[in-house]
Amino acid sequence: MKIYLDHASTTPLKKEVLDAMTPYFCQYFENANSLYSGGRQTANAVALARQSVAKNFGCMPNEIYFTSGGSEADTWALKGIALAHKSKGNKIIISQIEHHAILNTAKWLKNNGFEVVELPVDNNGFVSPQKLEELIDDNTILVSVMYVNNEVGTIQPVKELAKICHDHKVLFHSDCVQAVPYLPLNFKELGFDLASISAHKFNGPKGVGALYVRNGVKIDKLILGGAQERSHRGGTTDTPAIVGLAKALELVQDSRDNHNSHVESLRNYFEQLVKEAIPFVHFNGGSPRVGSVSNLAFEFVESEGILMLLDMDGIAVSSGSACASGSLDPSHVLLSMGVPIEVAHGSVRFTFGEENTKEEVEYTVKSLTKIVERLRQMSPLFNLKQGETHNV
Ligand SMILES: *Cc1c(COP(=O)(O)O)cnc(C)c1O
Repeated sequence: MKIYLDHASTTPLKKEVLDAMTPYFCQYFENANSLYSGGRQTANAVALARQSVAKNFGCMPNEIYFTSGGSEADTWALKGIALAHKSKGNKIIISQIEHHAILNTAKWLKNNGFEVVELPVDNNGFVSPQKLEELIDDNTILVSVMYVNNEVGTIQPVKELAKICHDHKVLFHSDCVQAVPYLPLNFKELGFDLASISAHKFNGPKGVGALYVRNGVKIDKLILGGAQERSHRGGTTDTPAIVGLAKALELVQDSRDNHNSHVESLRNYFEQLVKEAIPFVHFNGGSPRVGSVSNLAFEFVESEGILMLLDMDGIAVSSGSACASGSLDPSHVLLSMGVPIEVAHGSVRFTFGEENTKEEVEYTVKSLTKIVERLRQMSPLFNLKQGETHNV
């Protein structure tokens, strides 16, 4: 038995995507920036991919810059805008629940003379547009708020946030990495100035993503090198990866509605079974949230124990966020939502995907129930709690 419930961490590559990529490894391998016909052929494949990606996001092809993934796109957006606009101001606002690619870049900027202000979230995991308006001042150059949070799945009011930024002549970036599989994205309608995506979160290859930069927005380079990506991002063009990203995105566009209803019904079924079977569980993240994510916190247990025992039953899940796992720090997302630290320590994230089934959900809840019971039996706090209840 092998059950994969960690789709927010990465997803399997689709066969159709692999088939689209394959010719560009050995057969059409030529450098897309060379002048001979082989190079023109690969350049053409990249141009078609860029057109297709731009069409899916409602923008111009020359507003799409391919990168090595979401982390590069996020890092580039923050550093590139901060450095290009520092004569106007030095304040950057990010939400408290951003991915580490944004958090750690913001930290770097702070160490390099910029002011970084965090926009808080409420107990349900949402930022407040009013609060953003209060934080923006004449010194503010950029606001970055993710569309969909990777740990709890909450959908932020990004369109409203972008409007507030524009009213104050401030640029708005959104990390859309987790949004692509679930929400149709039209960057123009949403009013974004910059947006990040990553192919491996929607059944594309790892190591490729894109940054959308609205025409007219000045941005410094992150990766220096040759004239690739209209002289904005050096490095020999990764033709197969870019072709794969575009193909995966086309497949997502075609199947998004079916995919959403499939994962959402699995997730709801899962949460219903958990509610029935396991006491003292917190369901983290309010509505609206994407249909695939279930973030649970089990009182009186540590998530590491649950993860290890689930793995022995063939079930792959992660605690809070993949980036935080390996360290014992509880999730910054849950803490900023006001989840008590001891509860956050027992949090596990289940993220469903296309290939999951109802039977897998049932098997998982059975295994989980047994594991949580077993771990709680070893917990002095839980036994104390049980004692209290018995004495009443
Ligand atoms: C996975 C993820 C990233 C990083 O993308 P990579 O392509 O793995 O570098 C950034 N932001 C969010 C919200 C993510 O989930």
